[in-house]
Amino acid sequence: MAHVVVIGAGLGGLPCAYELKKLLGKDHKITVVSSVAKFTFTPSLPWVALGLSPLDKIQLDLSPVLKKLGIAFLHQAALQIDPVAQTVMTQDHQVLNYDHLVIATGPALNFAAVPGLGPETGYTHCICTDSHALNCAKAWDTFLKNPGPIVIGAAPGASCFGPAYEFAFLVDHELKKRKLRKYVDIHFVTPEPYIGHLGIGGMANSRRLLEDAFDERGIKWISNAAITEVTPTDVKLACGQTLFYKYAMVMPSFLGTQVIRNSPTVGNVKGFIPVNKIWHHPQYHNIHSVGVITALDPVEKTPIPIGTPKTGQMNESMALAVAHNIAMDLGIIKGEKARPTLAAICFADMGNTGIAFLADPIIPPRNKGFVKEGFWVHWVKMAFERYFLMKMRLGIAMPFYEELSLKILGISLIESNPNVFTNI
Ligand SMILES: Cc1cc2nc3c(=O)[nH]c(=O)nc-3n(C[C@H](O)[C@H](O)[C@H](O)COP(=O)(O)OP(=O)(O)OC[C@H]3O[C@@H](n4cnc5c(N)ncnc54)[C@H](O)[C@@H]3O)c2cc1C
Repeated sequence: MAHVVVIGAGLGGLPCAYELKKLLGKDHKITVVSSVAKFTFTPSLPWVALGLSPLDKIQLDLSPVLKKLGIAFLHQAALQIDPVAQTVMTQDHQVLNYDHLVIATGPALNFAAVPGLGPETGYTHCICTDSHALNCAKAWDTFLKNPGPIVIGAAPGASCFGPAYEFAFLVDHELKKRKLRKYVDIHFVTPEPYIGHLGIGGMANSRRLLEDAFDERGIKWISNAAITEVTPTDVKLACGQTLFYKYAMVMPSFLGTQVIRNSPTVGNVKGFIPVNKIWHHPQYHNIHSVGVITALDPVEKTPIPIGTPKTGQMNESMALAVAHNIAMDLGIIKGEKARPTLAAICFADMGNTGIAFLADPIIPPRNKGFVKEGFWVHWVKMAFERYFLMKMRLGIAMPFYEELSLKILGISLIESNPNVFTNI
């Protein structure tokens, strides 16, 4: 019996554990190690941050769900990986032996890169974690009683831009609902070379659409902007400009998590996991990476460095490919190894409307790219949250009807093409 350990039970790790269970059945053991007791549907955190959704509505207790599925669960942070001994040590010094290891820890948030950044030791808010989103919501309530200028954006080196745009549009909408918009100047500040670049060199008409959407709403923007310092009252930029603010939400750059930084040969210098074309660690073929912790090169050199985003569906695509390849390594399925296509559909809510993005793949050159605004996106995003949580509750990574729907859209999340694997 092989033992597969999955570290992290977020948007990448949990679907991967489910797909592994489906493929490996009862003959092999799967253990999920998670530093938190609950799964959180991260894409809905902007709603939590503005008090539009309670946190518990987008969460799921991991223990009962995993127990029902016959997946072992350890509510512990992994502390260190020994890739030679094939062990994971947890916070309480338990040592787990593994035959295959899936690393899906998500990122660490690099607030220290900019003085004054972040909710713990700085002055800006963040929507990346449950507790940050809750802090954000509390501060938003206070802000509404005495509004003033708002700065929203991303720090140099950031890779996750979508939530910052979404947050800016939602803030605009919420202020209008309360007839407070006229008292609030909104500045969007981003290291992207232009609005709508999104860390992926733009997509279809993303630049025009997002610039128009900002213009229509009177949201001012500064692209190619490097935030150098945040004080209790000002956001300072490398170009010398200073933006006074009463409320600021800035997406930080990401680093690898502590467990990877504690395990030197596993991660690269920033603590991300390098992968080859079939998502094996290049040095340790029984280590696999899923989600934001995976090292992906920037799609192009930009004046201010930025990273490549990893969206929810990209993570699902990595999860499916990794589970497939582990099942092949264990001799359960035959055929070709798979790799994630990194195709993805994303929805950004704007309050009463929204923008849908489809990119196949996210990383150019692309077969397809599509960006469309419509009121229906707002509803689709809400329905998708419920659908995804239902999948996670039932323990299914990719139901056949989802696979079929994606196929109808011409998208598949994994592919195998032996010709491109020849140099692995
Ligand atoms: C605010 C926000 C909004 C977003 N909106 C969208 C969207 O609309 N559409 C979209 O496609 N994508 C969206 N994304 C991106 C998407 O949510 C992420 O790509 C996804 O959550 C990353 O999944 P992950 O599994 O890599 O990491 P996570 O979801 O962060 O999960 C990692 C898990 O591992 C745990 N962990 C960390 N360290 C350890 C350790 N040492 N031991 C054990 N467990 C550990 C963490 O606690 C966490 O539970 C958004 C992201 C954010 C932050």
